[in-house]
Amino acid sequence: MDSVDDLARKALVIHRRLCALYGCPIPYFHSLDPLSELVSSLLSHRTRNAESGRAFKALRARYPDWAALIEAPTAEVEALIAGVTWPELKAPRIQAILRAVRGQHGALSLDFLGDLDVPAARAWLEAIPGVGPKTSAAVLSFSTLRMPALPVDSHHHRVAQRTGLIGPRVDVGPSHAILRAQLPPDWSAQALYDNHEVLMLHGQRCCHHRAPACGRCPLLDLCPTGLARQAPPAAEGTRSCAAPQPT
Ligand code: SF4
Repeated sequence: MDSVDDLARKALVIHRRLCALYGCPIPYFHSLDPLSELVSSLLSHRTRNAESGRAFKALRARYPDWAALIEAPTAEVEALIAGVTWPELKAPRIQAILRAVRGQHGALSLDFLGDLDVPAARAWLEAIPGVGPKTSAAVLSFSTLRMPALPVDSHHHRVAQRTGLIGPRVDVGPSHAILRAQLPPDWSAQALYDNHEVLMLHGQRCCHHRAPACGRCPLLDLCPTGLARQAPPAAEGTRSCAAPQPT
């Protein structure tokens, strides 16, 4: 079994190789205030980016501000976000979470989180029922707060699991703390964002859920899953992992 130091070294090698492949620094894809990023992140759970983006735009177009969304009929919100997974759960949950933010902070804003350190800001968010580690990290990292937090989505998690950074039974939630601890404590927000983005891109473009393209993967020599599969490169074509996948 790899020691904690071995895993930290491996995490850095993986980061450097994937950064070389996908081109770090990766540009931020959002410039939303943290409360809007919270709504966006809640919509995105188990949903394709295009669909959650459409739902977010529909909410923005319908309501002048997030207070208006709280007061809106839940069935109306559900209809506006019908394209996301589980709209019937997400509509009341988003309203309840926004209500909780207003109730606990006294205002419908999360800008104050920028005055806290990352553990305190994450703890504040995760104390709200329905907000987990992925959402709290996304709010801090992806929003205009640009704080050094590491989100882990299902693609990121799959690559981390197959390469042995986390064990086979570590779920997405608990993986956040383990994967963050493997990276240098003084890494910037951009470096942590890059780490998440390159592992996520690798999961999308190379380390596929059903048929990982191990034969063309730059992590093969250090990946126990890939080495065990020993898939012949000819069976997978020669397209680089960096190339976006056809949709
Ligand atoms: S070698 Fe295969 S299983 Fe391992 S990270 Fe690469 S694509 Fe995924």
